[in-house]
Amino acid sequence: MSTMLPVAGAPEVRRYLQDLFRRHPRTILTALALHVLAAAAGLAAPRLLGGLVQAVHDGTTVGHVDRIALLLAGFVVLQTVLTRFARLRSQAFGEQVLAELREDFVDNALDLPIGTVELAGSGDLLTRTSRDVEQLGWSVRWAIPEWTIAVITAIATLVGALLVGWWVLFPCLLGVPPLVIALRWYLARAKDGYLWEGETYSVINSSLTETVEGARTVEALGLEQARIDRIDADIAESFRAEKYTLSLRTRFFPSVETAYLIPTVATLLLGGWLYFRGDASLGDVTAATLYVQALIDPVDRVVSILDELQVGSASLARLLGVAQVPEDRVATGRVPADEHVQASDVRFSYTEGRDVLHGVDLDVGIGERIAMVGPSGAGKSTLGRLLAGIHPPRTGEVTVGGVGLVELPLGDLRGHVALVTQEHHVFVGTLRDNLALALDEAATDVRVLEALDSVDAGDWVRALPQGLDTVVGSGGTELTPAQAQQVALARLVLADPHTLVLDEATSLIDPRAARHLERSLAAVLEGRTVIAIAHRLFSAHDADRVAVVEDGRISELGSHHELVASEGSYAELWRSWHS
Ligand code: ADP
Repeated sequence: MSTMLPVAGAPEVRRYLQDLFRRHPRTILTALALHVLAAAAGLAAPRLLGGLVQAVHDGTTVGHVDRIALLLAGFVVLQTVLTRFARLRSQAFGEQVLAELREDFVDNALDLPIGTVELAGSGDLLTRTSRDVEQLGWSVRWAIPEWTIAVITAIATLVGALLVGWWVLFPCLLGVPPLVIALRWYLARAKDGYLWEGETYSVINSSLTETVEGARTVEALGLEQARIDRIDADIAESFRAEKYTLSLRTRFFPSVETAYLIPTVATLLLGGWLYFRGDASLGDVTAATLYVQALIDPVDRVVSILDELQVGSASLARLLGVAQVPEDRVATGRVPADEHVQASDVRFSYTEGRDVLHGVDLDVGIGERIAMVGPSGAGKSTLGRLLAGIHPPRTGEVTVGGVGLVELPLGDLRGHVALVTQEHHVFVGTLRDNLALALDEAATDVRVLEALDSVDAGDWVRALPQGLDTVVGSGGTELTPAQAQQVALARLVLADPHTLVLDEATSLIDPRAARHLERSLAAVLEGRTVIAIAHRLFSAHDADRVAVVEDGRISELGSHHELVASEGSYAELWRSWHS
């Protein structure tokens, strides 16, 4: 079961945007000023054309017409130049904002409590890192600048129109109610409609793949007709969804187009009436009509981009939400007295109200080997993760040397206890970088090679053409699974935790490599406290003590011989394994 990471609310998103503005007031104002100037330069054309119509009506010279034409060309050039700089400025700013956002996001993601990432699953985090960042990048680079330009152009054009005569306001207002009504109607239905459409595509896709992948079964059981019917039904559903969104569009777009046309027609009518009454000149009516006509394009862009900006703001909310996960560790500055690990009355739940550990006590001696056994689902891995400090217990505590694991900063914690699983990630980078991950200060090559030697990996590393400088990970030199496991073990040796919690450490390794690795592992375990989740009973046999975990409790605890003698569930398991 997985819980989702939180999503930021509207106030947090607003606060973030205000903050952004406060950090870059100059850049934002310069870009805005350039856009305003560019829009203003665009206002000259209708005025000049209006004047020209008036002049032709009144009688004019060719020279005058030429001058006006030249002036028109001049303004067009001016507008082009200003627009270029305005766009350059705002896009460069967009890139900068995006970079800052990415950095913030990475910081927040790295600060996430490990337990939270485990519970939410990396899928959610990955979607936010990839899809949401991309979505937001698109908004920041393209939608926001375009939208700003459209708003400024629309306002400037309206001002230009009103400067011709305040009467132009009335025709413009006439267009507002139909536009608002159509928009509200559309936006209320569009999102669900498109979600439905997308969903039907997914259904068709999964039915198809299912059928293809299960082709043998379909044939064997004579299910052909059933599958065809099923896919026919899916396609019919998709058709209904398509028809629905199409019907939304065929009603919305004509309504909007009409709403756009109303003001132009009304301006012509009102202007004509005023002209015949002698209250407006022919030039005024021409200029006003051209302005109102010019309003259509920016208003259309304001409306359509607004819809898309909602997607961007949803992504921003999801990215900011990552910062809202509460801290689960508080560094108190206390220092462990020794390496004695102890769990007392530990309870833990993944989902509220459903404890999977019910009061576990475990006192691990320094240097002791403990094997945890028990049926699957009993809580062994969970207890292991708590003992390694990955999840904090709900109640009770896990301590090392008397200090709670949650009180230690992560870096220090890893110097005391570490969890070893079969998941071992090779990071893209040099081999040295991969190993030095475990250290605060840069590790010397001598120490790094020593660590590699101790896990039997020194030879193949030295044989690499660039040694420790060899780039590994995807795109670099591919390491075999066994080599990757050795790198992970060497990393552990460098971090040098006294206590290791081992969960299936070598079970997924190719059996031919396993023996070799068991040797490397044995070298790492030498002299440390080890709590091993034993999935094979023979490893329990060698442990100092065996802890039997059943139903979230330690039901038996003692040496192999004691437990076999006590005739409990361990004895039963042991016998069944032996027979
Ligand atoms: P074991 O290691 O003994 O097989 P686990 O510690 O993996 O047992 O699981 C103990 C219980 O906790 C099981 O009921 C399991 O379903 C549940 N559980 C384990 N991991 C999670 C998780 N990430 N989210 C929710 N429940 C979990």
